[in-house]
Amino acid sequence: MTTSDDLIWIRGGTVLTGDGGGALTDSAIGLRDGLIEHVIPWIDLDGELRADAIDLSEYTIAPGFIDAHVHLLFTCESDHEVTRTTFQRSSTAELALTGARNAVECLLGGITTVRDLGDTRLVVLALRDAIAAGTLPGPRVQSAGAPLTTTGGHLHWCGNTADSVDEVRKVVRALCTAGVDVLKIMASGGNMTRESNVRDPQFSLEELTVAVTEAHRFGRRVAAHSLNAESIRRSVQAGVDTLEHCLWRDREGLPLPTETLVELLRGSTTSVTVTLAGIQRALLPDADPTDVERAAALAASPTGGLSSDFGWVKALMDAGVNVALASDAGVRFTPFRRFHETVRCGIEGFGVTPSQAVGMATHNAAKSLGISDQVGLIAPGLRGDLVVLEGTDVSQSLGAVHQVYRDGRLVVDRGQILLDDLR
Ligand SMILES: [Zn+2]
Repeated sequence: MTTSDDLIWIRGGTVLTGDGGGALTDSAIGLRDGLIEHVIPWIDLDGELRADAIDLSEYTIAPGFIDAHVHLLFTCESDHEVTRTTFQRSSTAELALTGARNAVECLLGGITTVRDLGDTRLVVLALRDAIAAGTLPGPRVQSAGAPLTTTGGHLHWCGNTADSVDEVRKVVRALCTAGVDVLKIMASGGNMTRESNVRDPQFSLEELTVAVTEAHRFGRRVAAHSLNAESIRRSVQAGVDTLEHCLWRDREGLPLPTETLVELLRGSTTSVTVTLAGIQRALLPDADPTDVERAAALAASPTGGLSSDFGWVKALMDAGVNVALASDAGVRFTPFRRFHETVRCGIEGFGVTPSQAVGMATHNAAKSLGISDQVGLIAPGLRGDLVVLEGTDVSQSLGAVHQVYRDGRLVVDRGQILLDDLR
């Protein structure tokens, strides 16, 4: 075993590695130069090194959360219209401040990597670069720039519309040239844009195919917002990499049989991002929502319960589909720092173990984002991104965030952001 002054040892009471399997108990994690170097039983660590180790034996350690679907420039109001209006009325400078604030909130919530899918004016790209340069605290950011939508379509107020094959091609090329990490395309309407239509596709198969072909030619993945079955069918046929929300519903908005969705996705390269936002958190058994939150949650729930609303997710996973769990933070009732409650909604809604739910919000999310060789697991060679949660008994649920490590450095300690490493 390597010994070095630079090697930091951490003792974890319970360790969820992110692979969705059984938890490790009483383990030692060795960090060096921003990377995880060792994961071994504590008992195997020699006495001298044990004496200097950071003792987290009363806590659970998981890979830093990866929130694969957020909106860093949104303000988490209690109403979609208020969030939209606030966004539309904000100057570029105000949006940048909102983004910087939300990036801090992500870290406080144990999130060390995010994929932002709702930029405007390339504000999030600047935020991404400032965090990467070490001048602002925050998670690693993948940014889609402004989502590609149709005139009057979902999030058209982010400012990126196209209405023909040629226009789609041009917008995708412009986004990739501007430096986005991923393309976000609105395959259907969405709830935050009341004049859009959630029950019908927004783009033709040909337009979606051109978007995917161009994005892939630039080496970028494609995330498709999809709230109905026809938009999902077209997106999968076009070869998108991730289906956001993935609501398998007919033109009346009614759920279609899960088996047909499983058949569509089985064996495909398309991953699914299930978003469990604050509106679902209000349905947790021990939640204490306001009357407004409860009413909104019930209005948005087809069946009135998490497990009956989201039973289809486990069927996809059982069929081998890669499913990531994300929050859609920034939308109504969804502050960034409560991400562990989204993971709890996954446990409740999908009928999976805490370890599996954490795996969906770490390793599976990393696979969806194409970065599973860097983050998403507690394993040698990956980045030293860790979230430390209260308590060691994960058999029922998950505790709140106690500490966060990013790139091997402690960045959050008991609700405080540590700024020592800022440049
Ligand atoms: Zn979203």
